[in-house]
Amino acid sequence: MIVVGAGPAGAATAILLAEHGVSVLVLDRARFPRPKICGEYLSPEAPRVLDRLGVLKAVDAVAVPLAGMRITAPDGTVLTGAYRALGPWRPYREHALGLPRATLDALLVDRLRALPVDLREEVRVTDVLVEDGRVVGVRALDRAHRALEARAPLVVAADGRASIVAQRLGLRRPHRLQRMALVTYVAGLAGAPEPHLGEIFVDPPDYAIVNPVAPDRANLSLVVPLADAAPWSARLGTFFAARARQLPHLARRLAGARMVAPVRALGPLAYEVASPGVGGVLLVGDAGGFFDPFTGEGVFTALRSAELAAEAALRALRTGDGSREALAPYEQARRAAFAGKARLARALQLVVAHRRLANLAARTLGRRPGRLDVLLGVIGDYVPPRALLRLRGW
Ligand SMILES: Cc1cc2nc3c(=O)[nH]c(=O)nc-3n(C[C@H](O)[C@H](O)[C@H](O)COP(=O)(O)OP(=O)(O)OC[C@H]3O[C@@H](n4cnc5c(N)ncnc54)[C@H](O)[C@@H]3O)c2cc1C
Repeated sequence: MIVVGAGPAGAATAILLAEHGVSVLVLDRARFPRPKICGEYLSPEAPRVLDRLGVLKAVDAVAVPLAGMRITAPDGTVLTGAYRALGPWRPYREHALGLPRATLDALLVDRLRALPVDLREEVRVTDVLVEDGRVVGVRALDRAHRALEARAPLVVAADGRASIVAQRLGLRRPHRLQRMALVTYVAGLAGAPEPHLGEIFVDPPDYAIVNPVAPDRANLSLVVPLADAAPWSARLGTFFAARARQLPHLARRLAGARMVAPVRALGPLAYEVASPGVGGVLLVGDAGGFFDPFTGEGVFTALRSAELAAEAALRALRTGDGSREALAPYEQARRAAFAGKARLARALQLVVAHRRLANLAARTLGRRPGRLDVLLGVIGDYVPPRALLRLRGW
């Protein structure tokens, strides 16, 4: 088995397969620890998978527990929701987590290193080998630019948003949502809520997320229309500072704080990826598509899709059938697992893009705090999205 990419999706898939005695070759173009542009929020359900992967103890030792989320609407209405058990639904942990991705991803790779896995860093996959309607391997370049070719019954594409596997198979499509994220770290934030909370500031067309990730260090992500940020690509720091000042509630929150890392940008954020038209390949995590970080999906999606991919891979290896037809149930299961949340993410995009709608939603939720907690439960991946259709009683 070949796994392309050792981020959360690839590392998780490889760990699960190695634990079943499968021989796995993992190729990543980076050397770990490596940075990753991200809001660095982990939903309360992510610890379930991290526990299964054997890294939760190490993650808990460094992560900041986030008891809930504080949302500030454009008109200044403030809502605070908690991650808590709701009727039959309980989170794996009654908190989300904030921690730097460099740390999380390195911990997952450390776990990989402890297993009999052939992990090769600084090896960049450049192409996929397709024969008779099936992916049969990859071509790559190592650090010294030496070409190598690897073959296996299955290739797991876990190579993130710029997935070379998805590109070479012609699966990647642009999305009409054109947004860009600018991400930095801040220190010296006064008046941090106790216990810690993630904080969202909605101010159309922008939104910002402040997420504590270490003592006196918070991730600050600003999401803006791509067209507004693109002309500033050479002066991102200037654009970021000016834009953050234009969000009055965020600006007040940041008073006295200082930026302690360069601003890094990524966009467009959203893109779509079609199902593979060939066998021998499974798309996991961002390689399978991404929408928007507002609902904090991403790492949990990567971890959960890795669980589904590992099941599908084990089935294919057992039966000796890695054809497109045999792997189709994985594609269906992956899409079904996230379809409800994807619908919610699209609906929330509509709300956060319109000032009056955002204010109205905030005031409505403010009157029924139980409903906000249900919404947070869905965002936190432990309440099924269908619960939002039956909110009477909350
Ligand atoms: C601005 C922003 C904010 C976000 N905020 C959050 C958040 O707060 N919470 C959350 O859960 N999610 C968030 N996400 C989403 C999250 O970052 C991703 O969903 C997550 O990283 C997906 O994991 P992955 O393993 O699929 O991909 P990645 O983490 O991108 O890992 C892919 C790996 O593949 C390797 N690779 C790439 N190309 C090649 C190649 N050709 N050859 C070999 N190796 C290769 C890379 O080096 C990398 O290590 C955010 C995303 C963005 C853009």
